[in-house]
Amino acid sequence: MKIVVAEEAGFCFGVKRALKLINEYLRKGNQIQTFGPLIHNIPVLNDLSARGVRSVSSVEEIAKGKTLCIRTHGIHRDIEKTLRRKGIDTLDATCPLVKKEQKIIARLQAQKEKILIVGDKNHPEIIAAQSYAKRVAIVNSLAEAEALPTRKELCVVAQTTLNTEFFQAVIAILLAKTEKLTIFNTICQATKDRQQAVRKLAPKVDAIIVVGSKISSNTKKLFHIAREKNKNTFQIETCADLRQRAILAKIAKFKSIGITAGASTSPQELDRVKNFLQKL
Ligand code: SF4
Repeated sequence: MKIVVAEEAGFCFGVKRALKLINEYLRKGNQIQTFGPLIHNIPVLNDLSARGVRSVSSVEEIAKGKTLCIRTHGIHRDIEKTLRRKGIDTLDATCPLVKKEQKIIARLQAQKEKILIVGDKNHPEIIAAQSYAKRVAIVNSLAEAEALPTRKELCVVAQTTLNTEFFQAVIAILLAKTEKLTIFNTICQATKDRQQAVRKLAPKVDAIIVVGSKISSNTKKLFHIAREKNKNTFQIETCADLRQRAILAKIAKFKSIGITAGASTSPQELDRVKNFLQKL
């Protein structure tokens, strides 16, 4: 069986940076908690948990004396203000590219612009990003974009992990509805590169394995993009999932398999999947 790993796959710059920050902090003997799971990767979270890092979901749960790590997606401004007011020490691991998106929204708000975010309103990144404006509209489907009223002026910002082709399709709809449309393409380079790589790889192999969490936004996008190009697309969280009989029976018949991985998937996990497939 021929195994091909996508040219760009796995850990992105923001995730590597967050892990480096938290590991350095732990090495110094500090105690830390994270606001929500640091990244969508079970083996990494298990490792952090074994080293005493617990995830909390509210300010009330933060243990006294422990630092709170803000994850790559950022945090709602109200929560940030509460943390400051309560004097809770923080380690900010917000990805600089998410920060850039937040700064753009804050600047547009200061200029009293009409803001539209294209992304998932329930995703932590967008929950945090939208808090930088008093009022934003959020769309996450072509139908929602079509339903928007016509406007003289509109500024549009993208979730960093958005499907690039979907963003282009939304922009095409908005152009027909707006006299002056200002576009901030805040999709991050890691997302663009991983999507581009899987678009290239998927038609050239018999099947695609997407490695990453089912709740990871960028992994979900990779899965959908791969699926559009290759109907034999499977998503697994870790190599252990490959051992399931149902998946094994499906993939064993293929002569070539491509592998891609979400931005929270470690190179070690990617290697485990590659080695397992090579032995089939
Ligand atoms: S996917 Fe992009 S925006 Fe998100 S953490 Fe990685 S580099 Fe940053």
